[in-house]
Amino acid sequence: MRQSSFFAPTLRDIPADAEIKSHQLLLKAGFIRQNASGVYSYMPLGKKVLQKVEQIVREEMDEVGGQELLMPAIQPAELWQETGRWEIYGPELMRLKDRHERNFALGATHEELITSLVRDEIKTYKRLPVLLYQIQTKYRDEKRPRFGLLRGREFIMKDAYSFHGDHETLDEMYKLMYDTYTKVFTRCGLNFRPVVADSGAIGGKDTHEFMALSEVGEDTIAYSTESDFAANIEMAQVADVYDKSSEEAQPLEKVQTDEAKTIEDVAKKLNVQKDKVIKSLLFSVDEEYVLVLVRGDHEVNDVKVKHFFEATNVELADDETVLEKLQGPVGNIGPIGVENVKIVADYAVKYIVNGVCGANEAGIHYKNVNPERDFVSIEYTDLRFIQEGDPSPDGKGTIVFAEGIEVGQVFKLGTRYSETMGAGFLDENGKNQPMIMGCYGIGVSRTVAAVVEQHHDENGIVWPKELAPYGVHLLVLNPKKEEQHELGESLYKQLKEASYDVLFDDRKERPGVKFADADLFGIPLRVVVGKKADEGIVEVKLRKTGETFEVHVSELTELLKKQWAELS
Ligand code: ATP
Ligand code: MG
Repeated sequence: MRQSSFFAPTLRDIPADAEIKSHQLLLKAGFIRQNASGVYSYMPLGKKVLQKVEQIVREEMDEVGGQELLMPAIQPAELWQETGRWEIYGPELMRLKDRHERNFALGATHEELITSLVRDEIKTYKRLPVLLYQIQTKYRDEKRPRFGLLRGREFIMKDAYSFHGDHETLDEMYKLMYDTYTKVFTRCGLNFRPVVADSGAIGGKDTHEFMALSEVGEDTIAYSTESDFAANIEMAQVADVYDKSSEEAQPLEKVQTDEAKTIEDVAKKLNVQKDKVIKSLLFSVDEEYVLVLVRGDHEVNDVKVKHFFEATNVELADDETVLEKLQGPVGNIGPIGVENVKIVADYAVKYIVNGVCGANEAGIHYKNVNPERDFVSIEYTDLRFIQEGDPSPDGKGTIVFAEGIEVGQVFKLGTRYSETMGAGFLDENGKNQPMIMGCYGIGVSRTVAAVVEQHHDENGIVWPKELAPYGVHLLVLNPKKEEQHELGESLYKQLKEASYDVLFDDRKERPGVKFADADLFGIPLRVVVGKKADEGIVEVKLRKTGETFEVHVSELTELLKKQWAELS
């Protein structure tokens, strides 16, 4: 491609709302343009990179027997109503009506659509399992679209779905997809980690997220210093291992704490450590109320509360409800004497000796609280967020945190969709069974941004070789000079013949402009035709390391081949 006629408009200034590097650089280098909040055009350079990611995904999916298809973005509401997700999905699902007032959704995901296709076509175990995938535009009216391609409202996803007659083949497929994702993200040059995750609104059980490690990631990963344990903090189990102090239990006593309501204030007032104060929170859990207790230095993890009660909706009760149910104001509530709501506590609470909790009276707390003695009808389980320094739940090492960008996720869906949508098959005994499903997503456009987050320097993007929009960037510093012009033209031809994908900077710009743009674009190998053109000598520069080589044109392709092979 000749840069003189290339549509790659660079920006001098970065738009003020571009907060993170990938967003800034992709805009500045002309890879993308924003058309509306969370809606982008992929300019020619951006489209090339996107295609590279798609190609890697296709190759790896096809390798394991995936079959590519393409489903519509416009989906009839009836399908979403069959599974109840027309309501459940909420405002994130973009909806529209046709001229006959029929409701449609713009596909946020395709479980319903694929299940409807498969249920109509597959009726017997003999045609299972099957693995289908597509690479397609998805629509989600995100509450906070931001960070450029990381969280868009229109974005590109690879979504795959597998259908099985038994759990064994689903387990095998899940493992295969896990390994395939590992290959895909490795080829994309990402530093990533698969982590145990929460299955969220989609339903199902086993699930892993693939997290590209990055400071700008919106997810926090807890991992072990000594083992391969890694989980989204939403999910990370906390082991029931705590020390119990040998202090002697004292008699329970009510104390005046006046205005002190927060854990800090109560701890200060009574001159105890925060880990002696019991935090009591009233939650509404689907149809009932539950009092949840954790140690003062811990935080309640509502995903765990949700899982424990197998609930769909968990939220903090409002002040009025607290007063009505517990007769005490927020900040003074506690489990002692409470009989009208269920009480659950995090494991750590059980080990507290002579602790503090609210007494369900304004301005009053209990001290010398000993949960095993003083709390009745209470269940202990794992309800808190893991913290750095906690022991790893597998017993090996301690927990540290990292931030991650979720670039992919694999789920075992089970029969959530096949049952509600009537996707059954006849098994070997002629019995009708619901199909067992898995689903597997990769954020293709998000991956592009995650790669830029991990691969850039102060001058621009540094593409890993498998994603680079071009392999070689050929620069002619002064095309007005006949020998430079001619050498440039002949090298352009020669490199293309040698199957290099070449971007040829033949523009009449100053060398400084060309170098700056080349750095910004981040193409791995650069060939510069300059002053020594008359001797047939050019310079090769590696974008990543800045290393340069002077080379005679007769040896150029050999050198490029060698350098390319060594790149990652
Ligand atoms: P998130 O938690 O980030 O909102 P999700 O868990 O809802 O994502 P999935 O339904 O698992 O997303 O979708 C599969 C993949 O699609 C994700 O792993 C992610 O890489 C990508 N993805 C999801 N939402 C967006 C978005 N708004 N913009 C870009 N990519 C997205
Ligand atoms: Mg996800």
